Amino acid sequence: MNSIISVLVAYNQFLILQIQQLLVFIAKNIPLKSSKPDLSSPKYNKFTVDKLPVVKTLEKLNYKHLLNDYFIQHDKELKPIKSRGKTPVPKETVCPRCGAPHQYIYDNTGGRGQYLCKVCSLRFNRGKSFNTYLACPYCGHALSFKRERKQFKVYFCHNDNCKFYNNSLKSLSPEDTEEYRLHPERFKLRYYYREFTVDFFKMDLDSMPKGSVNFNFRTFSPHIMGLCLTYHVNLGLSTRATARALWEIHQVRISHVMVSIYAKTAAAIVKPFVDSYDYKPSNYLAADETYVKVKGVRHYVWFIMDALKKSILGYQVSGTRDVGPCILAMRMAFSKFKKFPGKALKFISDAYSAYNLAQQQFFLNDMEFDLTQVIGLTNEDPVSTEYRWLKQIIERLNRTFKFSYQVTNGYGSGEGSNTHVALFVAYYNFLRPHSYTYWQPLNSTPELESIPNMPAKWQKLIELSQQLILSKQAL
Ligand SMILES: [Zn+2]
Ligand SMILES: [Zn+2]
Repeated sequence: MNSIISVLVAYNQFLILQIQQLLVFIAKNIPLKSSKPDLSSPKYNKFTVDKLPVVKTLEKLNYKHLLNDYFIQHDKELKPIKSRGKTPVPKETVCPRCGAPHQYIYDNTGGRGQYLCKVCSLRFNRGKSFNTYLACPYCGHALSFKRERKQFKVYFCHNDNCKFYNNSLKSLSPEDTEEYRLHPERFKLRYYYREFTVDFFKMDLDSMPKGSVNFNFRTFSPHIMGLCLTYHVNLGLSTRATARALWEIHQVRISHVMVSIYAKTAAAIVKPFVDSYDYKPSNYLAADETYVKVKGVRHYVWFIMDALKKSILGYQVSGTRDVGPCILAMRMAFSKFKKFPGKALKFISDAYSAYNLAQQQFFLNDMEFDLTQVIGLTNEDPVSTEYRWLKQIIERLNRTFKFSYQVTNGYGSGEGSNTHVALFVAYYNFLRPHSYTYWQPLNSTPELESIPNMPAKWQKLIELSQQLILSKQAL
């Protein structure tokens, strides 16, 4: 016995030695540098989504002072531009920053509407122009327009001292640095911003998700549907826990898959009702974008709520924290006004720049409104006493939403998920008791009020929605 052990120990020692020798061999002869591309290299940065730019207000300048400064510096006057025929700059054109008249303005694109001011070097567009410009979120430098593609405009930060650019340069390997010198176009080292030119004002807000219109409603029991929704949406149980509750409390046998089919169907039916209800909004709207991670996938959920009456008026689910979904959520909320209040509308958001960018797009579509951005509305930062009440409302909405969203497994991003958020909004706006309204729902109809219990209220809400869909189809 002893001898066997000693033989095994000796053999073990021999194996350990062999392994060591092999390791030395590997270390010496096989390079550790893997041939897999290093995805953190700026070479592969082309498609990463950068931060949104910062929107800054143009400092007003006076061209007369600037001309005077020029005279003092150069000992001669800055001459007006000699017009060279074909497409003269229209006489009424004035530089939006320094007020220089058309004699000092170049046509920068041969009649396509982009101008350059000779006095203050501002580039601007014909027609409506903003008193704002886009700035780099890393260094604050104004972004330069690079090119226009079919779907978007490209801007970039050309500041050589930009933190983003310098960090990219530093992270280049010696070979990459050499390649960059020869082929700079292969690299994306500077801060780029793609402004999408998709018209978010032409998209149909009321489009129904595919496959949700033709339910065979006879296969559904309204009673079971009401129970499912109460457990799943109101009480935040998962589809599996809901299925168990139905069995253990009500002796109804139903699979968790069926629970989720009920939820999806109800969501699609209830959406038109929730969206076209006459909320009679006040002129104070508050926006919030919250991020939910379910099964490792990020979703951004945008809410626009009536800050005084608390109803959710606009919502949108997106895979990115971009301007597009922000505009869609805002349009949805604005569509609740019979007449758009214009500048009387006070819109309050956190300091995220998507709201500024959206405001510019609304401005171009003749919808001006007042935007107040409050730092610290949703995060840990302190917020001024003036807006503390609003912070509390938004945080409460966020908590309620996240609680009920987690159980849905995230739905998957895209068109369909808007529908599911509609189910939450239906609950929040019509069924949930709120402390703001002395534990009554935010909105009610006589039909809903007369019903004592929640499963029956869900049934009624779905019935009202069906009537609405049918009446719309009859038109
Ligand atoms: Zn100017
Ligand atoms: Zn920069």
